[in-house]
Amino acid sequence: MYTDSHCHITFDQLYDHLDDVLEGMKDVSSCLIMCTNETEFLRALKLKEADARFKVAFGWFPGDAKTIDDAKMERLEQYLREGKIDVLGEIGLDYYWDNTFNEVQKDLFVRQIRLANQYKVPIAIHMREATRDCLDLLKAHAKTPIVFHCFSGSVETMKECLRMNALISFAGPITFKNAKHGPDCVRACPLERLLTETDSPYLTPVPYRGKENQPGYVRFVTKKISELKGLEEADVARQVEANFLSLFQ
Ligand SMILES: [Zn+2]
Repeated sequence: MYTDSHCHITFDQLYDHLDDVLEGMKDVSSCLIMCTNETEFLRALKLKEADARFKVAFGWFPGDAKTIDDAKMERLEQYLREGKIDVLGEIGLDYYWDNTFNEVQKDLFVRQIRLANQYKVPIAIHMREATRDCLDLLKAHAKTPIVFHCFSGSVETMKECLRMNALISFAGPITFKNAKHGPDCVRACPLERLLTETDSPYLTPVPYRGKENQPGYVRFVTKKISELKGLEEADVARQVEANFLSLFQ
């Protein structure tokens, strides 16, 4: 049974045909739904109520940092206080799309890390073109388990993350023909520190690259990892799920 540690099935795009999506993920036994707004979050809570495979992540996305006011921060804290958030994320820094408000992003990131510390929940990290700032802020502030989602950095950066006791999550890009660091990172990452994800509806793995992604396709990511590491797929899947569930102990 497979683990999708990062998917967006409550995005309109997948939620609009959720029955198909659920039908396609029968062999996914653990799944974390990432929510970047309250509409998605409320949908995810309902799904979790009905199906024990699901856990729910919610946090303000770095790209939205300029729109996050005090009222929104208070609502996030309210949900944490009520125990509705299993993982705070995806939070982090993204200088790729827009690097004109890096300081605003950093401020939001630190405030959310502190909330995670206060309410003792793991954090899921989105880090793009911002490795140095992101790792420095995590080292200075983070006290709960860290998951680096869709890891795409170098082996050297990954080792730095591992020294912070983080879990490293890999997605569809490791299956691409032109994959750069991904396969090397998979080989260098201890199996006990590794997670699988889809980031669906994005980052569709081969053989469905170019089409819409869904959690069921995490099996292609798992298969690729087992090939790269020379291990049985079932053994990889079992250890990945144990790694994922360890976040909630
Ligand atoms: Zn995501």
